[in-house]
Amino acid sequence: MPDLHTPPATHAPSMIGALVAAHGVIELQKLLALGEGPRPEHTLVGRELYLDARHHRQFLTPLRRNPACLFDHDVWSIESISELPLGRVLALGSAPARGRVKVESDRCTGEISLEGHVFVDEIVCGHCGYRNPTAVLRDRLESWRLRCTRCDSDQAVTTTAIDVSTWLGAAGLSAEMLRQPLRERGFRPGDVLTLRAGGRERHFEYAPHAEGASARGVGGRWHSVVIVGCGNIGSQLTAHVARLARGADLERVILVDPDTYSESNLAGQEIGCSDVGRPKVWAQAERMSAIYPELEVLPRVCRIEELPLAVLRGAILLGAVDSRDARQQINQAAWRIGSPWIDMAVDGPSLLCRVSTYLPGTGSVCLECSWSSSDYRLLGQVLPCDENRGSQDLEETEKEEIESPGVTVNGRPGRQGHGQDLRELDRE
Ligand SMILES: [Zn+2]
Ligand SMILES: [Zn+2]
Repeated sequence: MPDLHTPPATHAPSMIGALVAAHGVIELQKLLALGEGPRPEHTLVGRELYLDARHHRQFLTPLRRNPACLFDHDVWSIESISELPLGRVLALGSAPARGRVKVESDRCTGEISLEGHVFVDEIVCGHCGYRNPTAVLRDRLESWRLRCTRCDSDQAVTTTAIDVSTWLGAAGLSAEMLRQPLRERGFRPGDVLTLRAGGRERHFEYAPHAEGASARGVGGRWHSVVIVGCGNIGSQLTAHVARLARGADLERVILVDPDTYSESNLAGQEIGCSDVGRPKVWAQAERMSAIYPELEVLPRVCRIEELPLAVLRGAILLGAVDSRDARQQINQAAWRIGSPWIDMAVDGPSLLCRVSTYLPGTGSVCLECSWSSSDYRLLGQVLPCDENRGSQDLEETEKEEIESPGVTVNGRPGRQGHGQDLRELDRE
């Protein structure tokens, strides 16, 4: 049984992508209209829908919150800060909410982090051995910082030794660094940073230019959609979402995908010959604008984790990705900003699709609730497009469930919360 949490989407035929995309957009429409007709029980919140096109069957599987889930399930309350010296920001972490901040940067005990990122503490010069204090987010490190401040050698570029840490505290920083603004440490507008002091954490959108930063996503309505992945599934989503946006009060769609269409995509993705060689998000943004010119479409040639988190606030996230890692990133982002997300997956050879919806909350089921240690081991691996993925036990149990519809099946080894009370719908 294919594992639809890590499907080999590369060779999936376009019709199976279209099938799952259509169901994903139906689900999106229900979420957008929640409170006006559709009730939560009409959505796939906390459930998985499996469509078995080969045998013309579908299954609904309830998903349960796993108390032992490795993800913390925290939905963040996000405040806002404008441009401030780092020392004052660190002091803010230990200040009472909305209280006055007393600035004693040389004595403050707060620490700062950006989830999913690490700081480079120092760069050791490969030429003279000097330890250049750095304290900048690693993936935002500009090349000029690799030049040694003592001997002016740029050999540090090739022979550097790097120390990294997740939290940055006042203790390891120079007085000059504490006086500098956050952007000097690699923070960018829209980042949601975490301040920690005395065992307590607060989260802030870094909004250096904002007048009263973004209050997106409040007021109970979702005004935008993020489509993550523009491949077999995502390329089939865009036209539907553009048409839906016309009547649904959607203001904005953000398209996220780091890749470019290649000739091999012509068989399985909703594109034309003129799209080959172009970034996927550009090609899809054009299609959406042709359908609904008033819709604001923002194409982003990057991975989801490279976008500042605050950009996603107020949006429903559509996951059309083909890896565990990307799903985990979407799940985490959705929880932090409290946005629903719809996960879509396909397995081409067996004509199977899956759609599930997650609604963040401390007590609600998340993607990782069903993950076993073998799922976590598979993170970051490049997966072959064959059957040899996941645990063998799991694959066999799943196969039995699908081929014996209507049977209630109890928990699976290592996949607590999944596959229980599997039942067939609309049996013909
Ligand atoms: Zn040097
Ligand atoms: Zn969970």
